[in-house]
Amino acid sequence: MARYRGSVCRLCRREGEKLFLKGDRCYKDKCAFVKHPYPPGEQGEYKGKISEYGLQLREKQKARRIYGILERQFRKYFEEADRRKGVTGEILLQILESRLDNTVYRMGLARSRAEARHLVRHGHYLVNGRKVDIPSYLTRAGDEIEVKEKSKGKEVFKQIRESLEQQGTVDWLDVDEEELKGKVIRVPAREEIDAPIAEHFIVELYSK
Ligand code: SF4
Repeated sequence: MARYRGSVCRLCRREGEKLFLKGDRCYKDKCAFVKHPYPPGEQGEYKGKISEYGLQLREKQKARRIYGILERQFRKYFEEADRRKGVTGEILLQILESRLDNTVYRMGLARSRAEARHLVRHGHYLVNGRKVDIPSYLTRAGDEIEVKEKSKGKEVFKQIRESLEQQGTVDWLDVDEEELKGKVIRVPAREEIDAPIAEHFIVELYSK
């Protein structure tokens, strides 16, 4: 399936804000958005007034970029959120948060969602004791996720363990840093999802 293969920092500059797509680097002065806080290309400045449709579109693109999801899959998530009872925008974010790649990232068992996606695809994680190599697998309350015993000695997981010791985790996940594993306690509430997304714009866009 086609996937964006260009510079991810370019996506932050395009959106005009940090999307934190590169793990540790995003928190350092090396961040491309810190060094070049203007859009890519020759124009060098963000456009002034933007139409309502433009706002809705940008917000949807931003959400797709943060979670690394293609248009068709994103649309399916919206349709699923729309079918469920409750606030559609909030449910959409909860579905996005429950993807295995995101859950692994939120647990700190990968340093970015892109890294999580890569490591999941290579089969380094178990869900409830069984290998799951599908990044879009949706986790549920009670699911236990762990790094495979054989993978723990790999250099990448040594580095992940080091960064895990420095970072905090979220309340809806219980993480055992020593054992490189964690448990999903519950679905996160909206206020526990810190992705900078105004989801009502996405709902408006798809509800036309
Ligand atoms: Fe965005 Fe991270 Fe690149 Fe900074 S380092 S521009 S936050 S992806």
